[in-house]
Amino acid sequence: MAYLLKGAHVVDPQVGLDDVRDVLIDGEKIAAVGEALEAPEGACVIDASGKYLVPGLVDMHVHFRDPGFEYKETIETGARAATHGGFTDVATMPNTDPVTDTGAEVRYQIDRAREAGLCHVRPIGALTVGEKGEQLAEIGDMVMEGAVAFSDDGHGVQSAGMMRTCMEYVSQFDRVVSAHCEIESLTTHGVINEGRASTRLGMFGWPALGEELEIYRDIELCRMTGCALHIAHISTGKGLDLVRAAKAEGLPVTCEVAPHHLFLSEDDVTDAYDTNLKMNPPLRTAADAAALRAGVLDGSIDCIVTDHAPHAPHEKDCEWEIAFFGIVGLETSLPLMLTNLVLPGTMSWSRLVEVMAVNPRACLRLPEVRVEAGSAADLTLIDPAAEVTVTPEWLQSRSKNSAWLGATLTGAASDVFVDGHRTLTEGVVTPRTA
Ligand SMILES: [Zn+2]
Repeated sequence: MAYLLKGAHVVDPQVGLDDVRDVLIDGEKIAAVGEALEAPEGACVIDASGKYLVPGLVDMHVHFRDPGFEYKETIETGARAATHGGFTDVATMPNTDPVTDTGAEVRYQIDRAREAGLCHVRPIGALTVGEKGEQLAEIGDMVMEGAVAFSDDGHGVQSAGMMRTCMEYVSQFDRVVSAHCEIESLTTHGVINEGRASTRLGMFGWPALGEELEIYRDIELCRMTGCALHIAHISTGKGLDLVRAAKAEGLPVTCEVAPHHLFLSEDDVTDAYDTNLKMNPPLRTAADAAALRAGVLDGSIDCIVTDHAPHAPHEKDCEWEIAFFGIVGLETSLPLMLTNLVLPGTMSWSRLVEVMAVNPRACLRLPEVRVEAGSAADLTLIDPAAEVTVTPEWLQSRSKNSAWLGATLTGAASDVFVDGHRTLTEGVVTPRTA
């Protein structure tokens, strides 16, 4: 099938494009980018005027709960949420049941994703068997089956010696280690940021140091081993300063941040105890959030991720202390970035494309997608004027634990193309059938 997108504002810093163009998709590839392109016979012509066309968005940190916790999310429902949010690619964390620590588990996810016929699902393999932090997982086997990175996300690797072994091993495969930085002897029973919020609400605190000390350790292990290191869901200004210093030294260190750490803080947690504000790492101070926003703008933060963490109602609709950590995020990530940073003029469209498409592909060692002839037709079309209200019905994810329920946001994906197939059509998820 051929599609001609007429008059889209194309933004792709990789090819130096930030202007109105027509884009012709033919089969799995972009056939032409130019002005006043003619539609080939039988092509579907799409009026894209007023919309932005960008390389397909990538979220390199999601939890799809499949296998093991399909009541929260399956690969199919997660892929629906990703597509609805404008993504062509997601990287799934391995804390499933069983844990994704063998090639067979990696293959399972890729096969299920192919059946779903929506986005590309790129499995991240566990560093250690069962994410227990004791024994190296089958890294080489998982690379052979398509694992794009390695992580014990959900846990920090507690032993520095074990982390060293993991990084030495992964460095042989040109893959990145994505580190969930948490020293459990410091965070123990913590359920909220340690400091004002924990004091005000009388709950166990999760100190910033519990994250920052492990960021420091892992940067030093990066220096020792040479393994590419990616700091997952960074949440404090001091942690970001450590990453900034490592980058200035030329170490192969990157990092990511989630929208909830940019646009919410511990001050939003009130005595209403909304458990959709409970995450790991926790919402930090307003000063931390401001430092992270500055880091996204100045290039210190490489990627926006959601840490999409679906949970069932009974796991969230309970006392704060026993509620599960995390929120869904795939469908609100782009609208939040547009509403809070891009549309007010704080952030450029090309920086948005870097942090949501170009940089995550580089971290995951995926082929580049460029808006130019010959590239894979993995594209996201964004309507900057779309108004979306976040309701349980609007969310395509199986779980509804969003921190933005009831909010109205401006700007959203209208169409998504994956390998030339239109998987989102004017806001409606349309799986490929073949
Ligand atoms: Zn994590």
